[in-house]
Amino acid sequence: MILFRNVRIVELEPPSVSELTDVAVYEPGEGEAAGTVAATGPRLHERFPSATVAGDGGYLSAGLVCGHTHLYSALARGMLVDIAPSKDFAQLLAHLWWRLDRAIDPEILKASALTGCADALKAGVTCLVDHHAGPECIDGSLSIIREAYETVGVRGILCYETTDRNGMAGAKAGVAENLRFAREVDALRSSGAKPLVDASIGAHASFTVGNETLESLADAVRTTGRGIHIHLAEDKFDAVDARHRFGKDPVERIEAVGALNDRSIIGHGVWLCPSEVDIVNARGAFLAHNARSNMNNAVGYNNLLPAFRNVVLGTDGMGADMLEEFKFAVFRHRESQGPWWPGDFLKVLHRGNELVGRYFAQDFTSAARCASDNGDVHGARDFPGFGTVKEGAPADLVLWDYDPPTPLTGDNIAGHFAFGWSSRSARTVVVAGALRILDHRPLYDDANIQALARKQALRLWKRMEER
Ligand SMILES: [Zn+2]
Repeated sequence: MILFRNVRIVELEPPSVSELTDVAVYEPGEGEAAGTVAATGPRLHERFPSATVAGDGGYLSAGLVCGHTHLYSALARGMLVDIAPSKDFAQLLAHLWWRLDRAIDPEILKASALTGCADALKAGVTCLVDHHAGPECIDGSLSIIREAYETVGVRGILCYETTDRNGMAGAKAGVAENLRFAREVDALRSSGAKPLVDASIGAHASFTVGNETLESLADAVRTTGRGIHIHLAEDKFDAVDARHRFGKDPVERIEAVGALNDRSIIGHGVWLCPSEVDIVNARGAFLAHNARSNMNNAVGYNNLLPAFRNVVLGTDGMGADMLEEFKFAVFRHRESQGPWWPGDFLKVLHRGNELVGRYFAQDFTSAARCASDNGDVHGARDFPGFGTVKEGAPADLVLWDYDPPTPLTGDNIAGHFAFGWSSRSARTVVVAGALRILDHRPLYDDANIQALARKQALRLWKRMEER
């Protein structure tokens, strides 16, 4: 058992900052309730005298969630590759990103995923939702990424971004990899394990997925019970193409094959129209907003953001620092003169937990039910969901050593996030009850992960020059 003493619990939704208290956590292997918050309250060391103290003082919150990223781009930082100038987004994909994803091989993928996961933990991010591409290394790729998640110890949802752009054999291989990986996770659950990584069904974007592939993806969504994870209308071109070639809006295409549900993740959606927002909302699907990436690719601003019911924040592969992403989201919205305040974006940042819950809550509710049937006292606990520091909640936690220069209360957490609080104060990080970073010191082999990443980055850049 781990104990945090004399901490103030920070909840993002509804926002609050507690009085000084203690928080006890069941570590992996500690029975049915392993990986959850055991108790909160004063003087817990008296109740749990053998618990290891993991922190004394500071602010304790649930871990942050990145709702959309691409770990395959982790080795793109500072790339020294000859990239032709691009006149538009489609050219940018062809000149840069589609050369990068074709250059990925198993070693590069492993190094990329390891460093991306390590980066996330150091920023207080405990769950990364990944959207993977690597057309020359499809089969088994999601298992390589899963291994990296487990080595570093991050929670996540993985998929392969299926596309027709490399031929129909490539498209079939993409669907097959999504199916294979979902079954791998299902087998883990059947064996009684609580997987750290789940599966979704990935597709690149409307403009690179024809009707035949879309039908296969819809089948995969139905057979696996997962959600589709796809880029839609990131650039205006994607929306125009859907209407021009298929006579439908991008969201209508997904809806028409029955692939839209409350586990779906739509990346960007910058150019979706109000009737599409209505469909997304009616299905309870998530919109992953990536403000910084949209700015970098000059694809425009999502002015309909406040109309979506379930907005989450993603980085689209630009690291995994969600407090930095939060700031970009707030300031870009302010610049667009939109109606949202930082407090609205705090709800959006927190909503990533709802997405995580739609994939992982089953592991906690069934454990509680099972324990209850056996008369275990823990079974009587309700499952409070992800994204909160309450008894029975998943122990994905961050202890921050933020020392606020102005009073911090529930009413101004968003203001502190927007104007000061940064990921550098993520001091101790716990995922699924396991300590992963203690007092800023990673408990995984961070130096080796970064050294491997630098070595594989050189290989990746060289292979890009050959493509
Ligand atoms: Zn993306």
